[in-house]
Amino acid sequence: MEINVHELIIEKAHKHLLGGDFTAVELAEAVLKNAESKNKKMNAYLEFYDDVKDQAEEADQMFKKGTAGMLTGIPFAIKDCILVHGKTATASSKILEGYTATYDATAIKKLKKAGAVLLGRANMDEFAMGGSTENSSNGVTKNPHDLERVPGGSSGGSAAAVAMDGALAALGSDTGGSIRQPGSFCGVVGLKPTYGAVSRYGLMAMASSLDQIGPITKTVAGAEAVFDVISGHDKMDSTSVPEEVAEKCKKEKKKKYTIGVPADFVYAEGVDEDVIVNFKESLQYLKKLGHTIKEISLPNLKYSLAAYYVIMPAEASTNLARFDGVRFGLLEEGNNLLEDYEKTRGVGFGKEVRRRIMLGTYVLSSGYYDAYYNKAVAVRNVIQNDFKKAFKEADMIATPTSPVPAFKIGEKSGDPLSMYLADIFTVPANLAGVPAISVPSGTTVREGKKLPLGMQFFAPHFNEKMLFAIGKELEKK
Ligand code: GLN
Repeated sequence: MEINVHELIIEKAHKHLLGGDFTAVELAEAVLKNAESKNKKMNAYLEFYDDVKDQAEEADQMFKKGTAGMLTGIPFAIKDCILVHGKTATASSKILEGYTATYDATAIKKLKKAGAVLLGRANMDEFAMGGSTENSSNGVTKNPHDLERVPGGSSGGSAAAVAMDGALAALGSDTGGSIRQPGSFCGVVGLKPTYGAVSRYGLMAMASSLDQIGPITKTVAGAEAVFDVISGHDKMDSTSVPEEVAEKCKKEKKKKYTIGVPADFVYAEGVDEDVIVNFKESLQYLKKLGHTIKEISLPNLKYSLAAYYVIMPAEASTNLARFDGVRFGLLEEGNNLLEDYEKTRGVGFGKEVRRRIMLGTYVLSSGYYDAYYNKAVAVRNVIQNDFKKAFKEADMIATPTSPVPAFKIGEKSGDPLSMYLADIFTVPANLAGVPAISVPSGTTVREGKKLPLGMQFFAPHFNEKMLFAIGKELEKK
């Protein structure tokens, strides 16, 4: 059977593989061929692995033995900050040039066990700091819907790889929106799981209390299939939540949901008009299907960005202290150890990373710790309580994923503050630890090009299934 990579989604590919219409080797070859040719323009992949065929052959063996599952033979792109044993991993930073991962991240181990085929590593903002992939030391990734625009970030390479039919799924990481926002910019699905649902073991830490690994796929069912495989308790991550605790949080399944909309937050100034129109249409659509739309109040959500941009750099500055030229990657030698550190870090880290290290070090320094870091942590608690209250009134909460559609390359890169403001709808989920999904909700036209828009849903802790249920309905719009 002729393989049409554009039409393939995980669910369909699985049926074809199971039915013997094509083999995993044939599928991997077809997707890889398309990925390699598109990548010349798109720069979504930093590298294609040299053992793709071997992996696919193993997947075919699993089909023969009858041990294949939904992800067996499915081609994946992997964000450059998730460790794959024996492969280069740089988090798109010069400081990790030449670094080879010495073990598999737990999420990778689980994908491998499921028979997934890892095609290569995907571009990203350096150390996941950014919302456009422009902070990569490997050059920007292009948005497959308009080459003049960014794919979003920081998992821009992962989202573009899926959107350009260069993978059927990708892994990204999300600290403040880095799976969902590129998902919405590229017209694909992105899930940030509940904090503690997916092991962070083998994910290069950005801000440890916010980071989660999650899937980027073409469909909601695809995201669900990946989540089901990569989630679960892992003793290698002390913040991973035991299954019995997760189980207790799960609400019973409903046919019709009450969807809360924090109206004063969503309809605030600065949100693009087309985004608002599309969001309202999407709500109308869900209402017609029988769901209830209810205005709710999350009064402290407006402080999310301020809290995030204190907590995140504080944790990042601490996590990045380990890159000193001695332990990993690059070394720029000076006359003594201190000079080695300074030179290596000066040359190895890009501008945005240095900005956040300085910011983080500042808010953690004695004298400022209480004024900034402790205040931000207090605000975070207040936001968590807002969510708790809101989930008493509504089953889930909806907002647009991003206040704007994909912006032009260079449009915001000189203005970090305007880049940070674009994270307004995504950071609350990370601060509260709740799961959130971005689902394609329509398009808007800019300069003759159709640009995707995304709608975001938040659910209570460990209620990803709720997000999949509503996402599958919206997807039909
Ligand atoms: N854009 C956000 C930031 O720059 C989110 C990053 C992320 O989720 N990794 O911090």
